[in-house]
Amino acid sequence: MTLLCVPLTSSSVEQMCEDARRARAAGADIVELRLDYLHSIEPDELSRLLAETAPAIVTCRTNREGGQFGGASSDRIALLAAACKHGPSLVDLEYEDWRSSAEIRDQLGSAIAEPLRLILSFHDFSGRPSRLLNIVRSMADTHGCDVVKIVWQARNICDNFEAFEILRAASRPTIALCMGEAGIPSRVLAKKFGAFLTFCSLRAGAESAPGQISIEKMKRLYRWNVIDSDAAVYGVVACPVAHSMSPAMHNAAFGELGLNAVYLPMRVEPSYEHFADFVRGCLERPWLDVRGLSVTIPHKLNALKFVGSNVEPLAQKIGAVNTLILENGRARGMNTDYAGALDALTEALQCERSDLRGERVAVIGAGGAGRAIVAGLRDCGSAVSIYNRTLSKAEALAGEFDCQALPLSSASRCEADIVINTTSLGMHPDVDQTPLPTEALRPAMTVFDTVYNPIETRLLREASQAGCKTINGVSMLVNQAVIQFETWTGQPAPRERMRQVLIERLSEQTDD
Ligand code: NAP
Repeated sequence: MTLLCVPLTSSSVEQMCEDARRARAAGADIVELRLDYLHSIEPDELSRLLAETAPAIVTCRTNREGGQFGGASSDRIALLAAACKHGPSLVDLEYEDWRSSAEIRDQLGSAIAEPLRLILSFHDFSGRPSRLLNIVRSMADTHGCDVVKIVWQARNICDNFEAFEILRAASRPTIALCMGEAGIPSRVLAKKFGAFLTFCSLRAGAESAPGQISIEKMKRLYRWNVIDSDAAVYGVVACPVAHSMSPAMHNAAFGELGLNAVYLPMRVEPSYEHFADFVRGCLERPWLDVRGLSVTIPHKLNALKFVGSNVEPLAQKIGAVNTLILENGRARGMNTDYAGALDALTEALQCERSDLRGERVAVIGAGGAGRAIVAGLRDCGSAVSIYNRTLSKAEALAGEFDCQALPLSSASRCEADIVINTTSLGMHPDVDQTPLPTEALRPAMTVFDTVYNPIETRLLREASQAGCKTINGVSMLVNQAVIQFETWTGQPAPRERMRQVLIERLSEQTDD
């Protein structure tokens, strides 16, 4: 069983005891007492701390090791040795100290008695240590070492692969984690690969290392209690990735259907090489069980290039892939943005895609979203006019898909049945902006805004007041995720649950 461990970093014994209670209530299996964070500690307080927080790991890190202890090395070892006498479950010491100092081995070695166990750890806050595998092997071979711990700052997402390989090859209980946003997979999938433990912060903002996830998020969002070694892995490839709503939607959907699967944020640096290395890395490691990836900014073109001819024809025409299906060592590409938008339209209009033939649609914007929607509508046979601030971009797009191009300034005179905003006008925080003046809005129009934050944009509010039918961006976002989910799992997606989770997340963001 992989333990969930919460490091406690408060400066007083009182607060550490309180935090240990909170960690336990939140579902922690064990706490790590960071003695280096305590301002001072008397011997009787040490016994109380250990008694009230058990089971616990004790450690005391110096500044060099990413900790707060600035005193003499002998004082640090004496403190750890004293703590060991009060029966923590484990004591964590830097491998370098253990290896290089016979005095430390003598002093601590005699304090460590059954059932207390020793974690030998190695941290590198600057990147992957050059002798990574040698270090792991040496720690594992060290007499007295019960648990090997290796933690390094991820240079990029591919470092996670090595953490998993270390866990898979481990001859004794091991912790292998990558720090930073790119290292999040190593923290969550520690359970899938049988790590001794993974660390979680007590709450957001209380992280003791970069990239640490709060225990609440680990349990609720990343499904800690449910996933096991057979868990299927999905994720969203983006840079940056923290803002993505997709983990919330897909993980809630897995939960609703009781699937052994987890969906993670996957930060992949912007270049094609980084993208290709990562996806190739997933394909070459079938034991990772990566079955599907959502792809967003800045990787949609990279994904298209990567899949080559193994792509849905319309995605090829749009020139962007936002969904990868990984099967039998190959990646197949799709675009669910256009399909999500078409589904949002047909749902609201209660019609089939074929009913969109001949409809007059004004698409405002000629960027990525505009392009996907124009391609989808033209595929259905709609008569599309593209309005854009930069007319040349509208003209180029119109030329490709055989439609009309107009300057944004003339949108107020548009005669369309359906108006779709694909620009970012009206998006948080510039919520007072709108791409269309009120005089352009007629009751017979359907107005669709792809902007989903806020859910009701100024455009939608004014369209609703003018008596138009309105469609919000949430609808498109949920629909495109539904298509991804159903493609990957072959099961009907719990659409309403996904919508509800998305709306909750959006309102949390707006409250921030
Ligand atoms: P993009 O490729 O950067 O395109 C941006 C578009 O907005 C361009 O047409 C640009 O015009 C126009 N624009 C930007 N600022 C403007 C301004 N101040 N005045 C007039 N036009 C302006 O971005 P994108 O990926 O297409 O995304 C655009 C919007 O679509 C975003 O707000 C996003 O929220 C939304 N979206 C929603 C979903 C969904 O599922 N609901 C999915 C994807 C995107 P120029 O060509 O003149 O620069």
